[in-house]
Amino acid sequence: MSTPADKDPRLPAAVDLLRRTGAREVQIRYSDDKEPTVWLVVVKWGVDSETGKPIPEAEGDGEFRHDAAAAMTPLAAAFRLCERVLAGSYCVYCNRPAMFSGESLVPVVAAGTCWYLWDGERKAFRRDCEGVAQAPGRNDPC
Ligand SMILES: [Zn+2]
Repeated sequence: MSTPADKDPRLPAAVDLLRRTGAREVQIRYSDDKEPTVWLVVVKWGVDSETGKPIPEAEGDGEFRHDAAAAMTPLAAAFRLCERVLAGSYCVYCNRPAMFSGESLVPVVAAGTCWYLWDGERKAFRRDCEGVAQAPGRNDPC
């Protein structure tokens, strides 16, 4: 099954972003048992059973944990999962709260946040603190 959203370069970039959280596996599935078709994105981490933090695959499996999001397109499901996974976390580079947006503009009200934003040139989601967000007026005081 193919949808126009499948061709969007933000879908593989969103999967890559989920992998960068330490995910061992990212699955894109759909359920068409009933109309409408629903898309699912499922992520699996190996985590330390005491700390709950993801552990590198080379260090063993730990305990497996999963999360999932569903939507009407694979892209929307992946974005929902990226939003949920990154919300409440902190950027390891700049220590600001991390958030995800499927777009490349930064909401001015959240300028104190390290947003993971779409970089159309590199076709990847990059950290705000890497200097990706150059939206006009982003940090303008007025
Ligand atoms: Zn950052």
